[in-house]
Amino acid sequence: MKVTLVAATQVRAPIYDFLPWGEEAGVSRDGEYLVEFAGRACYQAWGRKNPETRKTRDYVRKNIIGKDHGSVLEHASATFYIEGVSRSLTHEMIRHRAGTAYSELSQRYVDLADVELVVHPTVQPLLHEPVVGARDPETKEPITVERLILQSYEDVAFAYDRLSATLEAHGITGKRAREAAREVAQSMTETKLVMTANYRAWRHILRMRGSEHADAQIRALALLLLEALYDEAPSVFGDYSVVNTQYGQVIEA
Ligand SMILES: Cc1cc2nc3c(=O)[nH]c(=O)nc-3n(C[C@H](O)[C@H](O)[C@H](O)COP(=O)(O)OP(=O)(O)OC[C@H]3O[C@@H](n4cnc5c(N)ncnc54)[C@H](O)[C@@H]3O)c2cc1C
Repeated sequence: MKVTLVAATQVRAPIYDFLPWGEEAGVSRDGEYLVEFAGRACYQAWGRKNPETRKTRDYVRKNIIGKDHGSVLEHASATFYIEGVSRSLTHEMIRHRAGTAYSELSQRYVDLADVELVVHPTVQPLLHEPVVGARDPETKEPITVERLILQSYEDVAFAYDRLSATLEAHGITGKRAREAAREVAQSMTETKLVMTANYRAWRHILRMRGSEHADAQIRALALLLLEALYDEAPSVFGDYSVVNTQYGQVIEA
């Protein structure tokens, strides 16, 4: 699983000149300046009177996050390219509608023979363990979890390949064949996603998908996203912490 921050809010006018402390080079990022600018614009609070004396990060933490002024966070956004996740993960992620945008690998255009399998994080440590109730038909030895998964992948790959060939034999080719043949694919088929969300939506998504109730794979993704978003805008995401629990690491919001 890999996340790459491919785009983030960039300021195009000197809004820092409106802020009491101006630009603090090397401290705050454009998304944070924009949030402060939008927050202060509501009250035209540009002066250095208390509490407007706060510097950008302090202002965002206390006046925006602390006062639950969430709509201001919608001005700034971050876009990630997410790779090495399963189709079942993205099926869950794209349920988040408010303040988000998605572009996902098309199984109608990309041949599934060219994509990988994603092993769920809960299964990964068990790959070399014997499968309960399954033996090699010839040796009668127990088979490993890894072998079980590979076997199921090979079965699916065979079905996809032969179904595609059969569709082609009936004059159905290209995306029309792939859109029908993909129906045999597994939920663990790898997919790739470009995902944009505004800061308010990211906070909501991290809280929902980083919790102990979330699926372990999407929680692992939420942890990576939090790390990257914290680097980008610590004043917006700094009140979220990672804690160890019996379910592994979770995000405490
Ligand atoms: C642990 C877990 C288990 C889940 N299990 C299931 C399941 O079994 N079956 C299933 O179908 N789904 C399930 N979901 C998905 C869940 O029901 C939501 O669809 C998904 O998490 C998107 O979140 P959201 O509704 O907050 O939407 P978002 O689009 O992220 O919206 C953010 C917020 O905006 C507001 N909002 C957005 N749209 C509207 C609207 N139309 N009207 C009013 N307010 C709105 C709400 O306050 C909402 O919380 C599960 C999610 C989690 C985290």
